[in-house]
Amino acid sequence: MNLPQPEAPLNRTEAESVVRTAVDEGTLDSVVALRLASNIRSEGVLEVLAEGAFESKRKFKGDVVTVSRNIFLPLTNLCRNRCTYCSFAKQPDSAEAHTYSLEEVAECVRGGVATGCTEALMCLGDKPEVAYRSHREWLKDRGYRTTIDLVLEACKVAVEGGMLPHTNAGILSVEEMEVLRPWNASMGLMMETTSTRLRGKGMAHFHAPDKDPAVRIRMHDEAGQLRIPFTSGLLLGIGENDEERIETLMTLRELQERHQHIQEVIVQPFHPKPSTPMRATAPIRDDEVVAWVALTRLILGPEMNVQAPPNLAPRMLERLARSGLNDWGGVSPVTVDFINPEAPWPAMEGLRELTEASGQVLKDRGPVYPDWLLGRPELFQPEMRKRVTRLATDEGYARRPTHQSDEEAA
Ligand code: SF4
Repeated sequence: MNLPQPEAPLNRTEAESVVRTAVDEGTLDSVVALRLASNIRSEGVLEVLAEGAFESKRKFKGDVVTVSRNIFLPLTNLCRNRCTYCSFAKQPDSAEAHTYSLEEVAECVRGGVATGCTEALMCLGDKPEVAYRSHREWLKDRGYRTTIDLVLEACKVAVEGGMLPHTNAGILSVEEMEVLRPWNASMGLMMETTSTRLRGKGMAHFHAPDKDPAVRIRMHDEAGQLRIPFTSGLLLGIGENDEERIETLMTLRELQERHQHIQEVIVQPFHPKPSTPMRATAPIRDDEVVAWVALTRLILGPEMNVQAPPNLAPRMLERLARSGLNDWGGVSPVTVDFINPEAPWPAMEGLRELTEASGQVLKDRGPVYPDWLLGRPELFQPEMRKRVTRLATDEGYARRPTHQSDEEAA
C-alpha cells in the first residue's frame, strides 16, 4: 500500500468533518485514516477522533463493555521463532523452559472453575518441535506427534473440567484447525502487522518465519473458509509506521468482508522487556494507543468487537473506555499474563468502577461474544454450541461454570 503522505496539517474543524462522515458511514478510508493518524498531536484532533469512535461504539454495542474471566495456559514456552521483542519464548536449556503436562492443565482448570472463569486460553510458542530435538523427544515420550497433539489433549481436559478453550497456537494448517475446532469455542492468531519491512535484517521479525505477513494472512483466510470464530489484532510499537498500521487494519477489514469470521480485533501496545534485543525501544505513547483504538473502531466499523488489554495501559484506562473499545479482553484471577508478566491484571472491581464512570456497564463474557453466540449459531459445531450455551445466560453473557461433564449435563 502506497498512501499519499498528508501534506497539510489537519485542524480540529476538518477532523470533526471527516470523523462525522466516518461515524455516519460506519467506516473510514485509508487516506483519511492516515491523515488523522499523522495529526493526533494537533490541537483537538485526538479528542475528536476518540469521541467519534466512542459514538460509533455506542451506536451498535450500546453501553456494555465486556471482559472475559479466563485462565492463561502457556502450554509450551518453546518457540521456533525469535521475535526481538519477545520474553515469552525460552531456549530449551533455560531453567524457565516449560511444557505443561495434562495434570498441570487439569489443576489450572480446577482453579479457573473455582474462581468463576469460563475461558481457557491456550497460548503457546510456534512449532517448537521444528527447532528443538529435546522437544521432539519430549513429545514422542508422551505419544504426541506434534505440539498440536498436546494442545488437542489440553483442550479436551479443559472441556471435561467445565471450561471453554480458545486456542492461539501460532500458525496452524487447515488440518490442524479442523482437528482443534470441535474442542474450541473460538480460535485466534494476532495478525500483529502486515509489514514485510519488519522481516528485514535487524528488524523485529527477521528471525521469525511465522511472522511473514503472507503466512498469517493465509491462515486468517483458511480460518474464514472453515468459518471458525476468530480473534486477530495489531501489535503496536514494534517498528511499524502509521501507514503499515493502516495497511494491517485494511487487510483485516478485507478478510472480514470476505469471510465474516473475525469476532474481535485486539489493539495491543508492545511493552519493551529488559531481557530482549528491543529493550531500549521507547514504549508507545498513551495518546497513540488511544488513537489506534479509535482508528480501529472507525476503520472496522461499529459492529466489530474491539479490545484493548487493560493491564497494558493502566494509566489511561479512563480515556480508553471512551475511545471506541467494547471489550477489555481476558482478565485472570488465577494466572498471570505470561506474555507481559510485568503487567498485573487490574482488580475486577476497579475495572467495573472505571467502566461505569465512563457511562457504561461491565459484563462478563466467555470466549464467544454474546452477539456471536446468539446471532451466528451456524459457526459452532453442535457439541461445542451446547457447551457454549450451557455456560451463557439467555443474553449470551458468561454464566459461572460448574464442574460438569458432557454426559452429566446432557
Ligand atoms: S512473539 Fe510469539 S512467535 Fe515470536 S518468539 Fe515469542 S512466542 Fe515465538
